[in-house]
Amino acid sequence: MERARTVLADIESFGRIYNCGDCNNIHVQIGPVSLTLSVEAYMQLVALVNTSAANFEQSVAWSGADDHELHN
Ligand SMILES: [Zn+2]
Repeated sequence: MERARTVLADIESFGRIYNCGDCNNIHVQIGPVSLTLSVEAYMQLVALVNTSAANFEQSVAWSGADDHELHN
């Protein structure tokens, strides 16, 4: 059976995440930067990014609230 590369996500002119089907790792490619992560490490990266996104949204919400207070 021929091993096929599976693209998990792709944003044109930004980056892509794919499984090459060959090395059992996940490849994260952002511009010229390429990371090869084990599935476990990839899942941790996903959790890390998800947590940072949630915290970022919260910090934006908080700074918005601060702005609102300042203007009152
Ligand atoms: Zn690979």
